[in-house]
Amino acid sequence: MKKTVKDIDVRGKKVFVRCDFNVPTDDSGAITDDRRIVGAIPTINYLIENGAKVIIASHMGRPKGKPDMKYSLKVVADRLAELLGQDVIFVSEPEVTGPETKAAAAALKDGEVLLIENVRFREEETKNKEPFTKELADLAEIFVNDAFGTAHRAHCSTAGIAEYLPAVSGFLMEKEIRFFGGILDAPERPFTAVLGGSKVGDKIPLIENLIDKVDTIIVGGGRAYTFLKAMGKEIGKSLLEEDKIDMTIELMKKAEEKGVKFLIPVDSVCAPEFKNDSPSVTCSADEMPADMMGLDIGEKTAEIYRQAILDSATVVWNGPMGVFEMDNFANGTKAIAIAMNECQGTTVVGGGDSAAAARKFDLEAGISHISTGGGASLEFLEGKILPGVACLLDA
Ligand code: ADP
Ligand code: MG
Repeated sequence: MKKTVKDIDVRGKKVFVRCDFNVPTDDSGAITDDRRIVGAIPTINYLIENGAKVIIASHMGRPKGKPDMKYSLKVVADRLAELLGQDVIFVSEPEVTGPETKAAAAALKDGEVLLIENVRFREEETKNKEPFTKELADLAEIFVNDAFGTAHRAHCSTAGIAEYLPAVSGFLMEKEIRFFGGILDAPERPFTAVLGGSKVGDKIPLIENLIDKVDTIIVGGGRAYTFLKAMGKEIGKSLLEEDKIDMTIELMKKAEEKGVKFLIPVDSVCAPEFKNDSPSVTCSADEMPADMMGLDIGEKTAEIYRQAILDSATVVWNGPMGVFEMDNFANGTKAIAIAMNECQGTTVVGGGDSAAAARKFDLEAGISHISTGGGASLEFLEGKILPGVACLLDA
């Protein structure tokens, strides 16, 4: 485990908090979804209550290493002040760590909050290069990383700064580490991985890492058809990655050798076209018509998968079971989300689209943990070291 804000004395100290305030905005620049700001409030409130001088940094959008006022954090500062119920000092300088910002940081009183400008206004940020890292570090005495969404990137404000300052996690980050780290290190068994989504290729490192840890692997979504093809089945016009067939055969062999159960769809909801109103039929995996494509798992498959999830003590889910964005092909994904809610064990969702699916069906409440970082959660599950986590002090 890693040290958290609770393991370090913050009273009277200048604390640099890296948040993920990469919120979506509309054409007028207004925030359309403030959940990322809401999510950071517990850490910021803790620091305020414990008398820290709070200096917050984040990126937003892709300003490409230059100041671009379209991506100014001014809107975030306003919303943050509302949510905290106190003033947020916001300084906007093109160089992010300019003289006004330095002066504002130096003048902070205990419990006050300063938000600095979008760190991606500086071209060094995403390259983790000096002098920006040192300039950020010079603003503060402690580094708190609460931005899990960028933890898989080694940037000045996510990892580099930890070379100068004692580094600990915020509460959001702590929760991500607890669930992903904990599950992978010592899962309660049986441990099941539910893997869907569109591409096999993207997710091979994920399957490879999980195969050594889980008892059951459930495959659905577009990637299931490469597995079915590898087993010699007709898959019609379904998604196929021809060049990954050998790899999938290897993976299935490896699973068998390790005694890992491998479940693949026994039926699919098929349609002639990739369109919601394309007339659909459910076909068994042995009888898929050549002119159709599989766009969701069928009812029989959903029931088998549901049972496997209910029988598990730990479940990680990545990737929808079908094209859930289209209502006619959303049932399989919804069934999995329901089973994740019904399961008595620890249930974790990683991946952007899977989290979006749980939200779309309003099925978030009964899931133990839904990651706030799509890409970062996948890299965690792949067994990669995340620079934004690795740089934190060990507990
Ligand atoms: P995540 O973001 O959770 O990691 P992915 O990005 O791997 O998930 O995959 C999500 C996408 O996979 C969704 O947009 C969904 O429409 C698509 N998908 C799922 N099943 C199929 C299918 N049978 N055919 C084509 N696309 C699919
Ligand atoms: Mg995705």
